[in-house]
Amino acid sequence: MVLCPESAHGTNPATAAFANYRVEDIPATAEGRVDLAALKARLGPDVAAVMITNPNTCGLFERDFREIADAVHAAGAFVYCDGANFNAIVGKVRPGDLGVDAMHINLHKTFSTPHGGGGPGSGPVVLSEALKDFAPLPFVRKTGETYELVEQEERDGRGPSFGRMAAFHGQMGMFTRALTYILSHGADGLQQVAEDAVLNANYILRSCEDLLHAPFGASGPCMHEALFGDKDFGDGLSTLDLAKSLIDEGYHPMTMYFPLVVHGAMLVEPTETESKVSLDQFIAALRGVAERAKAGDQSMKQAPYYAPRRRLDETLAARKPVLAWTPAEE
Ligand SMILES: *Cc1c(COP(=O)(O)O)cnc(C)c1O
Repeated sequence: MVLCPESAHGTNPATAAFANYRVEDIPATAEGRVDLAALKARLGPDVAAVMITNPNTCGLFERDFREIADAVHAAGAFVYCDGANFNAIVGKVRPGDLGVDAMHINLHKTFSTPHGGGGPGSGPVVLSEALKDFAPLPFVRKTGETYELVEQEERDGRGPSFGRMAAFHGQMGMFTRALTYILSHGADGLQQVAEDAVLNANYILRSCEDLLHAPFGASGPCMHEALFGDKDFGDGLSTLDLAKSLIDEGYHPMTMYFPLVVHGAMLVEPTETESKVSLDQFIAALRGVAERAKAGDQSMKQAPYYAPRRRLDETLAARKPVLAWTPAEE
């Protein structure tokens, strides 16, 4: 059994299920964090691991993480951290100190690519002392101050590792880009990355929460993502209509309808790279479409108007995909 918070990204339970584990939800508290008491009550000999995203997908830091990890370890299970939101804590928090046993780092989200920037997806996986012997070959090991690529292990395939990975190098370009970003920032620059990403998200949260419903706005500052919902939109308008209208304002829409725990979720991640001027422009555009949505402006249902492609029938496209191009009849 693997436990995942109900706000988890679908890839978390999917990964556990793919590896033949059963998956169960851990409920959230009203303030959007893992319900520690419920988690503790569920731990037992049948639980292999808990998968947690920190900061979580509601944009909040899991303050009880160390206590969660201690309880999980005491129950003989492991802590997997989904590192998709590492941008908010890079240079600030060492996952090992939080008790994480395994974590993937989405290089296509942290270290140069804005979240949702498309990818290609690339993610090194880091392991704690407790899991290191399970690392598949090849892996990178730190010895003293140097790193080495271990291609052949002393244990010679007879250890607990499942062996060799076919596709170790993955998306090489992403590794190169991430390394370049890390080296050009340096340790102090990476701390600034986290600070600016979090500051920018809070600026958006506080600049729009009078207009857009911020379900966890009262839980304190957010991390690097500001979360809104579509409560109080008028006359059948939804998050989709707001997102499509943002295209007409010149903005790629934010992540929508995720996390599932918020109705019509809009998850805005400005990242560290936006200036105050560009944030103010975005806020003005977002407030403009939010006001129209609340007023029930029906013209939003046909948006976008100024994009090369108008509103697409995405359900039809998913159900009846046209996968080959055929020239139009003369
Ligand atoms: C984006 C995201 C993922 C999945 O990332 P991929 O882009 O599909 O690799 C997993 N968890 C969270 C919290 C995410 O935001």
